[in-house]
Amino acid sequence: MLKSFINVDANSHFPIQNLPYGVFRKKGGKEEPSIGTAIGDFVLDLSVLDDAGLFDKTSVRGQKVFHQSTLNRFMELGKTAWKEVRAVIQELLRDDVPTLMDDADLRKRAFISQNQVDMLLPVGIGDYTDFYASKEHATNVGTMFRGKDNALMPNWTHLPVGYHGRASSVVVSGTDIRRPQGQIKPPGQEYPTFSPCRQLDFELEVGCFIGTGNRLGEPIPVGEAEEHIFGMVLVNDWSARDIQAWEYQPLGPFLAKNFATSISPWVVPLEALAPFRIPGPMQEPEPLPYLKTNKAGSFDIQLEVYLKGDDMESPQLITETNYRHLYWSMAQMVAHHSIGGCNLKPGDLLASGTISGPEKITRGSMLELAWRGAEPIKLSNGKERVWLEDGDELIMTGWCQGDGYRVGFGEVTGRVLPAVKLEGMQEVGILKS
Ligand code: CA
Repeated sequence: MLKSFINVDANSHFPIQNLPYGVFRKKGGKEEPSIGTAIGDFVLDLSVLDDAGLFDKTSVRGQKVFHQSTLNRFMELGKTAWKEVRAVIQELLRDDVPTLMDDADLRKRAFISQNQVDMLLPVGIGDYTDFYASKEHATNVGTMFRGKDNALMPNWTHLPVGYHGRASSVVVSGTDIRRPQGQIKPPGQEYPTFSPCRQLDFELEVGCFIGTGNRLGEPIPVGEAEEHIFGMVLVNDWSARDIQAWEYQPLGPFLAKNFATSISPWVVPLEALAPFRIPGPMQEPEPLPYLKTNKAGSFDIQLEVYLKGDDMESPQLITETNYRHLYWSMAQMVAHHSIGGCNLKPGDLLASGTISGPEKITRGSMLELAWRGAEPIKLSNGKERVWLEDGDELIMTGWCQGDGYRVGFGEVTGRVLPAVKLEGMQEVGILKS
């Protein structure tokens, strides 16, 4: 097994087999952000390695792609550059290669403890698209709102349903989330009320970043789609269910989704996930040819969600599921997204939609876990939750289990803050004329 001279615990998400990319800044410092990879408890500063000439035999030579505040310039160089750079980093970190291991001065400059850095949003995100690719999630939601017999809409098994989301409010893990407010119309009320969201939810998702895009009018074939994907992150697509219920017809969710989406800071390359590739669920009926691929398109990624109320001593596990449950693959999402001619661009984020599985513990949102309030979640402090409350912290994590090592995503966390107080606007209803 490949080993690094850096000590990496078997449960660490960041062994030499992973090598995700992220953007960091030293805590308290005024230095510019820099691009690094995670190894064990350290960040390896790639700009330092670049300055030392260690990437001179790759196609990033002289381009300063690691002296940046986003990964975009590296991403748009394409698959060959990603492969070359990964090979160099992996070689330099090996326990039988002296170049970096035996250069005390370079090591001192290149490694920084992870608790001495702040991780920043890794990518300049141009567009964010959110899919709805878990059959169990779509069935659960459909059952709650339309009944068991009409749970899945007729289009669902033929195309990866999605919508264009909002990129400006995608934030990095650790960012506090302000409870949104807007129009809600509780059942039985004739007119809407202006109110802080009363049904705040999370959505457990995995997203992929487009590295290289396509030209307007030239779709990406499903068989080539993965070559355009730079890597993957965990996504918490925060949702305001009550705002959504009132606003969503006929054009879909708007303010219910655009206030915040959190992502994990480390982008895990597809190459690191390759050993964990598995076939996705059987697709029946067979997809149309533009969505059909024989390549196994899924990954065995364990996913967990923890909730910690501000009066709880430790986070409580509320969801335990797996990426493998997703019906549509990332390749199919990319192919479908571009089939009409839409151009994807470097830095675009495509998220899977809530990932739920067949059992109750595998449900990836509060809406499903508490079944719209019918089955409240019991917490360790004796309290219950149907929706997220102010002060609640949500923690998502995910990893692939190898033989003696883990390729992980780290965490995406976020804490709910009370809604902004708007003078004279709280809880205003419209009086009937
Ligand atoms: Ca979503």
